[in-house]
Amino acid sequence: KPVIAIVGRPNVGKSTIFNRIVGERISIVEDIPGVTRDRIYSSAEWLNHDFNLIDTGGIDIGDEPFLDQIRMQAEIAIEEADVIIFITNGREGVTAADEEVAKILYKAKKPVVLAVNKVDNPDMREQIYDFYALGFGEPFPISGSHGLGLGDLLDEAANHFPKRDTKDYDDDVIKFSLIGRPNVGKSSLVNAMLGEERVIVSNVAGTTRDAIDSEVTVNGEKFVIIDTAGMRKKGKVYESTEKYSVLRALRAIERSDVVLVVIDGEEGIIEQDKKIAGYAHEAGRAIIIVVNKWDAVEKDEKTMKTFEQTIREHFLFLDYAPIVFLSAKTKKRIHTLIPMIKVASENHTRRVETSVLNDVIMDAVAMNPTPTDKGKRLKIYYTTQVAVGPPTFVVFVNDPELLHFSYERFLENRVRDAFGFEGTPIKIFARER
Ligand code: GDP
Repeated sequence: KPVIAIVGRPNVGKSTIFNRIVGERISIVEDIPGVTRDRIYSSAEWLNHDFNLIDTGGIDIGDEPFLDQIRMQAEIAIEEADVIIFITNGREGVTAADEEVAKILYKAKKPVVLAVNKVDNPDMREQIYDFYALGFGEPFPISGSHGLGLGDLLDEAANHFPKRDTKDYDDDVIKFSLIGRPNVGKSSLVNAMLGEERVIVSNVAGTTRDAIDSEVTVNGEKFVIIDTAGMRKKGKVYESTEKYSVLRALRAIERSDVVLVVIDGEEGIIEQDKKIAGYAHEAGRAIIIVVNKWDAVEKDEKTMKTFEQTIREHFLFLDYAPIVFLSAKTKKRIHTLIPMIKVASENHTRRVETSVLNDVIMDAVAMNPTPTDKGKRLKIYYTTQVAVGPPTFVVFVNDPELLHFSYERFLENRVRDAFGFEGTPIKIFARER
């Protein structure tokens, strides 16, 4: 999906516009601890356009001076987006800070569409002509708070979408990414994997959009490591800010089939790890938990088991994800990653036979009778798999309200016991027949 970034100095109304375009599509999933949506990145649909939207204004860059913050936000936009929407304020005219933003955007080799916000009524349209001076052609008058002019603005932005962005890679290529907080060893792990004997690297980090990924072939099979470049490039101030790393993680997750959630075995689990894992789970991707730096941990025969229990306690929602203890430094167990990724991906896209599925559900019901509520008992008529990636099942019942979370969980576990599905979330929905 193409990416649009919104930039502009503070108080021009970036968040209002972001929320207006995104609408109420972002929801918080309650059963995952620590996951509150950072509302700076979202997929969006507007008329017939389908894209991702970034509000760079929501990325706060610590204590840097005001102008530096604006500059960094603009740089992030240039780096992350296919099209940039540059927002100004029609009530205040062109300011010095607008000119600063413009100066940075001139250097971008990305299309920029200029919007003049807070033009709430037609009388104010005269004022937009000053904005030609910023050098981005025709300014688009809009009103974020009234929702005016956004259609024209987005149409113009869409005219600049890259032509062949619809699909990144072939369907049969497994795409995976490594996510985790800074310094857990993501880059080291990628390098360790790329350095393996059986791994043939066909394309490593470059400058074009595709080349931010690494394509590798292992035993004749192709894989893509998503966003290797983002992991390798270090040092810019903004890369260490939490919201920016979340943004990068979300983008990588979205493009992946399998996500490796990397944890620092030496430091243990902290709140941020849970949050990051929560994003991957919420996105419905296959997940493998990777405990890195295992070489640096002082161990006895119980250490691994104890650590595993701690992980299970902290990541209750990831009970389906296998855990691997390894070291990017010594390369211990690095070779197990590709086979694990393959299994997780196969499970993520697996279809089960409907008759077998129904046998499993009926056996489950025989073993543990369906719940009743106010004298009414849940009746299950039929179950069918409606999707893969992740496997999604619909249970046809007499009354969907009666399928409580705990019974749904029980059915999920029965399905897992019967079919495996290690490494992938599965979803079960009830529908009335
Ligand atoms: P990233 O920010 O997640 O990409 O982390 P890096 O790959 O840059 O690694 C952060 C630090 O951890 C570096 O100093 C690495 O040398 C170190 N490191 C990475 N993997 C391992 C490992 O398996 N064992 C040990 N002892 N150190 C590691």
